[in-house]
Amino acid sequence: MKIVKSENRIFEFSPLMNPVLEAAPGERILFETHDCFSGQISSEEDVCTGIDFDYVNPATGPVAIKGAEKGDLLGVKIEDIEVAERAFAVLVPGAGVIPDKVAAPATRLIETDTAAGTCSFAGFTLPLKPMVGVIGVAPAGEGVSTGTPGAHGGNMDTKDIKKGSTVWFPVNAEGAMLALGDCHAAMGDGEVGCSGAEVPAKVTVTTGLIKNAPFGRPMVVTEDELMIVVSEDSLDLAAESASEAMVSLVMKSLGLSFEDSLILCSLAMDLRISQVVDPKKTVRAAISLFLLPWDRVAAALAGE
Ligand code: CA
Ligand code: CA
Repeated sequence: MKIVKSENRIFEFSPLMNPVLEAAPGERILFETHDCFSGQISSEEDVCTGIDFDYVNPATGPVAIKGAEKGDLLGVKIEDIEVAERAFAVLVPGAGVIPDKVAAPATRLIETDTAAGTCSFAGFTLPLKPMVGVIGVAPAGEGVSTGTPGAHGGNMDTKDIKKGSTVWFPVNAEGAMLALGDCHAAMGDGEVGCSGAEVPAKVTVTTGLIKNAPFGRPMVVTEDELMIVVSEDSLDLAAESASEAMVSLVMKSLGLSFEDSLILCSLAMDLRISQVVDPKKTVRAAISLFLLPWDRVAAALAGE
C-alpha cells in the first residue's frame, strides 16, 4: 500500500501540479489528511476569526495514477475513512446559509466513537457518518482553490462521498493528479452553519480507469444510486446543469429519446442539495442504478 503523509498538502488544484508519488490502478493508497483548519483549532476556545485562512482546506497529495490520460475517467473507490477522536464544528460571522444571524464566532467539540458508530455534541448522540469533503484532480483550465468545487471535483462537500462509494472524475492531465482532504465525521445536506464535524482522517482508496470516456462532471456511484455532482454560482444554475447532464446521460446510456429521458428523470431522479456555503453551490442529481446501471453508462461513455 502507498501512504501519502499529511505534510504533502496543496491549497490549489492546478493543471501544473507535481505528484508526490505514483500509484497503479488497483493499488491501495492511504491519504493521511489534516482537518480543514490544518489543525489550527484544538479546543472550543480557538475560534475561526483567530486562524490563518491561508491554511484552510488543505488536500493531501497529489498522487499520479499510472496510465491516466486526458479524456479518460478516473474512478476513486473510498475503501475506508478512519476519523480521529476529536472533531470541531465552527460558526463564522458572515458565513453559512444565514450569515447575518451569526453575530459571533463559535467552536464546538464533537467527540467520535468509531467502535459505537456515533459522535456526540452538546449531550446529543448522532450517527458517525464519515465523508470526504474535498476530493479532486487537476482541472482542465486555470488552478482552483481547494475551497472551491467545480468540474474537477474539489470542495464538493457531498455526504455520499463515503466508504463504499466510487467517485468518477474527468482526467484533464497525465496521471490525473488525485488529492483529497477536509473529512467530516458528520454533515447534513447544505452544511448550513458553514462547517461539518471537521476532523483529521486516514482515507484509503483504490483507483480504476475507463480509457477514452470523456465526461465533464464528477459522478458518485453508491451502493444503489448514480449521482452527477454539479457546482455553479447559484443553486438554480446548479439544478439546471445537473438535470441537463443527467437527462443527456440517460439518453446516451439507455438509447431513449429526449422526451422519454426527461420524463424518466422527472419521475425517478432526485435533485439534492450538497452544500450552499462554498464559493460555488453544489447539487447532485441522483438516480437508481436499477434504472441506470453503471455498466451501461460506462459502455456509453467509452463509445462502445
Ligand atoms: Ca468543505
Ligand atoms: Ca469542511
